Amino acid sequence: MEASRVAALRGHEVILVEKENRWVIALSFLDKRIRNRGFVSYNKVLQNNFKKLGVKIITKKEADTNFVSTIKPDVIILACGGKFRTPETITSKKKKIITVPELHKKAKIFLRIFGPRFLGWLTRFWLPMGKKVAIVGGSLQGCELAEFLVKRNREVTIIEESGKIGEGVVDFRLALLLDWFSKKGVKIYKNAKVEEINDEGVVINQNNQQILVPADTIIILSPLLPNIELYNSFKRYVKEIYAIGDCKEPSLIVDAIHQAWEIVRHTMTIEDLQRKIVELEQKIKELESRVQILEDINEIKELQRRYVDALICTEWDECAECFSEDAVVDVYLHKPVHGKENIRRWFKEELSKTHAGKEGDFVVHPIVKVEGDKAKGRWLLYMMYMYPRTGQSLFWVQGYYKNEYVREKGKWKISLMTWTERLGLPGGGPPTGLW
Ligand SMILES: Cc1cc2nc3c(=O)[nH]c(=O)nc-3n(C[C@H](O)[C@H](O)[C@H](O)COP(=O)(O)OP(=O)(O)OC[C@H]3O[C@@H](n4cnc5c(N)ncnc54)[C@H](O)[C@@H]3O)c2cc1C
Repeated sequence: MEASRVAALRGHEVILVEKENRWVIALSFLDKRIRNRGFVSYNKVLQNNFKKLGVKIITKKEADTNFVSTIKPDVIILACGGKFRTPETITSKKKKIITVPELHKKAKIFLRIFGPRFLGWLTRFWLPMGKKVAIVGGSLQGCELAEFLVKRNREVTIIEESGKIGEGVVDFRLALLLDWFSKKGVKIYKNAKVEEINDEGVVINQNNQQILVPADTIIILSPLLPNIELYNSFKRYVKEIYAIGDCKEPSLIVDAIHQAWEIVRHTMTIEDLQRKIVELEQKIKELESRVQILEDINEIKELQRRYVDALICTEWDECAECFSEDAVVDVYLHKPVHGKENIRRWFKEELSKTHAGKEGDFVVHPIVKVEGDKAKGRWLLYMMYMYPRTGQSLFWVQGYYKNEYVREKGKWKISLMTWTERLGLPGGGPPTGLW
């Protein structure tokens, strides 16, 4: 998750693949506790962040070579966790032997049903484990479990292969814990190798001495092993591949997170960043030109509507101002007019005869195409003529504008206006002299 987060922040396109059905699985238990204390859901915060960053999350998918060869990533960051190990010398069929995956599987169901608080309380009365428990593996995980079991009245023995108990536990807490263990009668065997797990318990070898640790339940919490099979099988499908966290070297959460951050920080080089900047600049330019076209189309639509509005209101100077200096007007039943000043005169002296401000005009269905400083636009014009004395509608006229536009001194103007009638009175136009 940390690798995905940092990679996305640095501009990479990220796909996070998780074989389980929840990508924040470990945190969901923790999350419930956080929410119970009135804080914002950490899972929600993470999910929102991942959404904003655009990380694509695929759950219930076990990444394999097929998957990798299909999506063809440039870089793989592998954080598939360590490998659990079970002593090969188990001869007992009677003893209850629990491995971490089994423990995890069982705990997961109960945690989902009851939540951590209630389950913790419940296990004080019911825990499917014998009275005498041997824990094989005495690092942080083993010590945590030992503490949990002692509090549930189990007689606990810790068997550790190395000379150190509590690897991973912070020093001041370890001292307190070991003191508490000795008060509670927890037996600890260091430098002890498991030779056999038989019907009596666990046979260990400590300083060349065989010792039997009697136990009803044996929990295997030996340190995880690195897990590099996937790394090796993915190697030939990708140019860059990194293993981080427990699959590289089993350790703690903080180490896995730190490695993720460190690796991703170095996967994007200065050259990558420069390339990314060039790509982004290119993209911005493309977007700018698209936005410019949209703004131009909008301005042209406004211009056309302003013109029709001025036409309705017989504001002839306003109409003339919608045209470019060397514009041409070529409309049905009129001779072509060239140049803005002639157009102005034409409005006042000629068009005003048939457009007396008593008709309702509107333009619809604009199709506008812009190319640089020039544009073309087609509009459908409706004109409803009214009888001036009664205000009753007389008839409708419909026809197409096929116009051209030009950007003049930074503003769009009509450079050519043609209009042809599609529907109207036979012979065309309103009866002159009606009003
Ligand atoms: C019992 C126990 C208790 C622990 N207690 C603590 C503790 O208190 N504090 C602490 O700091 N550390 C603790 N640790 C260690 C800690 O859990 C690990 O160091 C840490 O989780 C490592 O993170 P990771 O991302 O490398 O691997 P993991 O957390 O194991 O995550 C690997 C993920 O990869 C997924 N996966 C595997 N293969 C595939 C695949 N092919 N395709 C898709 N997904 C896949 C798995 O489903 C899993 O979700 C404990 C470990 C154990 C076993």
